[in-house]
Amino acid sequence: MLDISSHDVLLIGGGGAGLRAAIAVAETNPNLSVAVISKVYPMRSHTVSAEGGAAGVIGKNDSLDEHCYDTISGGDWLPDQDAVEAFVKEAPLELMRLEHWGCPWNREPDGHIAVRPFGGMKKERTWFAADKTGFHMLHTLFQTSLKYDAVARYDEYYATKLLMDDGQVQGAVAVELSSGKVQAITAKAVIICTGGCGRVFPFTTNAAIKTGDGMALTYRAGAPLKDMEFIQYHPTGLPFTGILITEAARAEGGYMLNKDGYRYLQDYNLGTPQPTPVLRSMELGPRDRLSQAFVKEFERGRTVEGPYGAVVHLDLRHLGEKKIEAKLPFVRELCLKYENLDPVRELIPVRPVVHYVMGGIHTDLNGATPLQGLFAAGEAACVSINGANRLGSNSLTECLVFGARAGRAAAEFASVQRPPGRHLLAQAAEEEERLQDRFLNKSGGRERIATLREEMQKTMEQSAGIYRSGESLQHAAGKLRELQERFEDIGLDDHSRAFNTELVAALELASMLDVAESVIQCALQRQESRGAHQRTDFPARDDQKYLAHSLVSRQADGSPVVSYAPVTITRWPPAERVYGK
Ligand SMILES: Cc1cc2nc3c(=O)[nH]c(=O)nc-3n(C[C@H](O)[C@H](O)[C@H](O)COP(=O)(O)OP(=O)(O)OC[C@H]3O[C@@H](n4cnc5c(N)ncnc54)[C@H](O)[C@@H]3O)c2cc1C
Repeated sequence: MLDISSHDVLLIGGGGAGLRAAIAVAETNPNLSVAVISKVYPMRSHTVSAEGGAAGVIGKNDSLDEHCYDTISGGDWLPDQDAVEAFVKEAPLELMRLEHWGCPWNREPDGHIAVRPFGGMKKERTWFAADKTGFHMLHTLFQTSLKYDAVARYDEYYATKLLMDDGQVQGAVAVELSSGKVQAITAKAVIICTGGCGRVFPFTTNAAIKTGDGMALTYRAGAPLKDMEFIQYHPTGLPFTGILITEAARAEGGYMLNKDGYRYLQDYNLGTPQPTPVLRSMELGPRDRLSQAFVKEFERGRTVEGPYGAVVHLDLRHLGEKKIEAKLPFVRELCLKYENLDPVRELIPVRPVVHYVMGGIHTDLNGATPLQGLFAAGEAACVSINGANRLGSNSLTECLVFGARAGRAAAEFASVQRPPGRHLLAQAAEEEERLQDRFLNKSGGRERIATLREEMQKTMEQSAGIYRSGESLQHAAGKLRELQERFEDIGLDDHSRAFNTELVAALELASMLDVAESVIQCALQRQESRGAHQRTDFPARDDQKYLAHSLVSRQADGSPVVSYAPVTITRWPPAERVYGK
């Protein structure tokens, strides 16, 4: 039976962005009731696994303009400059607020906040809590959210659909995973903070829960996704597991070596070798360039063949045990546990791994989507500050700045809305019926979830990897249409209600197929190379035609269609990206 509850603002997602937004709603208008749905216990959200740090200008040697410029040039001039300016200005304030809420930032011996360098950031401005920054940030936000009685949590609820009334979003339908009960949660405003979608690829640092659900919910509700072709590969993932070795390892002075023990990045226009700890360039170039350099090294036969394919080496040995233990204890722990090697004495095998999606739900500077009542923030959203390539450590801060902005805007919106009507319950009942008919009570479906998922992931890796071509993208578009059709014939073995993980896997696959199609379609239409989108058939950046955001919408037949919107340029006209100075 359908359960019904009603709140003023509903948050879908309890990670960094979701919890920051929930706090902002509660602070903006203490009379509003706030609901947070999360498909996992909030502390298990992917934010918890962030290691390296969060960017924000602090200290005399840096300036807001420099952070803006690094972000804009790092994003290959695709970020909206008004969004970047707002972000950079509010970043230090948000990080300081977290400090006041109890986040244990690392400090210098004199008590000042410690910062470390990070890829593509020409100044040291990345705040950190050892190499467990996300853990500490999420803990701080979670505990702070507990202060507000107005915040109700729906832990381990899976959102399956947005409730809409006359083009306005007014809640969502979710499945309580422990019982299988369907819950209708109505609200005057909804904020989507469901994180990224790295799982559409087979080899990723992303947790298994990062399946782009919120992007798919929004896309199906009729709002566009933006810049979906820009998928970030992180240059240093452990082979096989895809576990991330944080950029902090290079920030603290680590070297990238090819099979000859040579710091090969000096051949890729990323600067010349410098002694540690002064290492502003080369190893600390932006992620797109480093991942592309790996492919070139492979083509030159200069990578190392390992049991799981080609790798290069990350060398931390010269940093010494003391520094590794002080600044990179988690890196050591991961290497010992998952590779059975000690980075104090041994080289770490690494290769590029899918890490982050620059694109997401199209929003304005306050998280508002084109749909009335619907807001989005965090990795699920695209404001956009990341453009064609995100700089490491900008996204934890993005969750804070734009989580807070979306929370405030949604609170203001909800404060002047009338409560949603009871007729939304008919929609919720329909959704309950759909879940039963299509999955739980259906017998005889011939397609298996794992087969379709594997075929999708393989297609994405082959066609939308570090380098892409029109031909392979065209093939992928056809293949994904085929997978969408085959998904109609999916069959579940588990028809029980309590903790039906097979049902969740099916719903996640449906999300991923929609997201994958939008990535491929945007990549196919963008006939240029920019940031993380490198087309072998169009190797140059083309500002004439493509200094524009892709907006992908779902058509009536379910297929994606792409249009373009202008990029906001305020003070930094497009120029060449230069590193290594
Ligand atoms: C290994 C790793 C290391 C990283 N390191 C850094 C770093 O050092 N610095 C940096 O700036 N960035 C880093 N990033 C990126 C950054 O951590 C993420 O972009 C950011 O944490 C995303 O936060 P979020 O709140 O948007 O989403 P998440 O933290 O992913 O939270 C998503 C939430 O949505 C919920 N959810 C999703 N779907 C549903 C559904 N259908 N129903 C109900 N709930 C749902 C989940 O339960 C979860 O609570 C890293 C990322 C990874 C993967």
